[in-house]
Amino acid sequence: MMIRDLRRVVFGLLVASIAGILTDQFLVCYLVALLLYVGWLHRHLRMLLQWLRDPKKFAPPETPGVFEELSLEIDYLRERHKKRKKKLASYLRQFQQATRALPDATVVLGDNGDVQWANDAAARYLGIRWPEDFGQRITNLVRLPSLLDFMQAPAAHDAIEIPSPTNPNAFLSVLMAPYGKSRWLFVARDVTQLHRANQIRSDFVANVSHELRTPITVFRGYLEMMSEQRDKAPPGWIPVIGHLDAHAHRMQSLVEELLLLSRLEQEDDVPNPKPVLVSEMLSDILRQARHISGAREHFFSLEADPVLEIAGARSELLSAFSNLIMNAVNYTPARGVIHIRWYRDLRGAHLEVQDNGFGISEELFERITERFYRVESSRAREDGGTGLGLAIVKHVLLRHHAALEIKSKLGEGSVFKCHFPNDMIVPQEALALSAPA
Ligand code: ADP
Repeated sequence: MMIRDLRRVVFGLLVASIAGILTDQFLVCYLVALLLYVGWLHRHLRMLLQWLRDPKKFAPPETPGVFEELSLEIDYLRERHKKRKKKLASYLRQFQQATRALPDATVVLGDNGDVQWANDAAARYLGIRWPEDFGQRITNLVRLPSLLDFMQAPAAHDAIEIPSPTNPNAFLSVLMAPYGKSRWLFVARDVTQLHRANQIRSDFVANVSHELRTPITVFRGYLEMMSEQRDKAPPGWIPVIGHLDAHAHRMQSLVEELLLLSRLEQEDDVPNPKPVLVSEMLSDILRQARHISGAREHFFSLEADPVLEIAGARSELLSAFSNLIMNAVNYTPARGVIHIRWYRDLRGAHLEVQDNGFGISEELFERITERFYRVESSRAREDGGTGLGLAIVKHVLLRHHAALEIKSKLGEGSVFKCHFPNDMIVPQEALALSAPA
């Protein structure tokens, strides 16, 4: 209790005591004094409450003592809170300014893909304006089939590349990250330069390969002629001709495969898909594989659904499946076993190429589908491998919305599986309808 309050209580008690002496009614006088004191306390507490609720309209109790001290303390806390609030608001403003100024288009989306907030770059690259477009679905504002697919299952994709809706010459890399309670951060980055550099690289490779094609064909033609007339050649030249022909053959395969890869890279989808009877194709590839196996006498087995067809590009699938089967032959020692299966289940259609050959260690699974990557370059080079086979397989499968799965153990063998989704399978009813009676 403060001194002033103590004085006030002592003074009250003194007055009550004097009144008690004068009236001889001590109890009544003390009771009256107590009631007066409680009333006084109540009044001050009410003033304090009113001032706390509405400091603009009411004044704090200014009676010296505990109430005055209390008002000063509350005033001080209030000021501190105000300052902190101001500081936080300024931080928030700065943060919003920074995100608004981010060079990447950034949009906050609700659970239904509705725009909650967007920065300035979103208007520049995507044409999404905030607050005007608040609540609109992003797929209504940016109408692209690839974005619609992406938005339906964002977790299944890493990032997609889309043309900018505001500038047809610009390309954007889009990714989405979930945060908080059913919120998504949609970020689109301008990758036009990268896209252009990739295009230049791709065009360069395609042009060089194209230009090399004719001289190599001429070169091989002459080599073939020379090898047909080997009896006329000096004996020392005969192995040289064979050697030259093997290298020219390798160069030709390289050029053809590079050209195929450039073609595959041009578009994400097969332009004009047609039903492909895979079982028939596999029988043809198997015949070739037996021929290539030759004296190595691999054991082959083929188990294929005879009517299972997928919609795609025959030449591309032939190239991909041949690569997988020829790899099984090339990377399996003599008399090894190679199983090929083509079947469907609830998840879709699947091609499995299994061998009990050299195998690959797990850390290389990602790398072997890169261009020119070979596990044992010397052995692969001797076998005439280009290192482009699995890169082609990967691209062909991508264009057919299929995925490649690799299972392998060093020294035990490998399984390469191609998984085609159900929507790539040609429905049998359509076949029955189109079949001649
Ligand atoms: P390459 O022309 O060298 O065969 P690929 O792209 O087809 O190129 O394959 C890349 C590498 O993956 C090969 O060099 C090989 O080491 C490894 N590889 C591919 N298929 C198999 C397999 N069935 N068994 C073991 N290794 C394989």
